[in-house]
Amino acid sequence: MEISKRLVGAYTMCVLCKAEGAKELAHMPCHKRDSPKKMNKYIDVEENAVPIGFRCKEFSETREGRLIAVAWLRNKFGVEEWNTWYDDLPFLIKESFDEVG
Ligand SMILES: [Zn+2]
Repeated sequence: MEISKRLVGAYTMCVLCKAEGAKELAHMPCHKRDSPKKMNKYIDVEENAVPIGFRCKEFSETREGRLIAVAWLRNKFGVEEWNTWYDDLPFLIKESFDEVG
């Protein structure tokens, strides 16, 4: 919650379409509802937070949207750093983002 305000405040543009203002912080590429509640502490972090606009809410649930998000997050945190965070997530099943540049 506090992290959301801080992050959305820092980015004015929707990461996914770059054509609208960012209105909220989407949890992605890992969506909260796909995971057990006890995993929320791993999901509610900056490495999994992308500012998006209202028009891209549905798009944020798609593989294509997640690929854009991952590219943006890797650029923000550094590829190695972000990959290390992602690889360390204790989820049983993880989507592969290897093809993201
Ligand atoms: Zn958008």
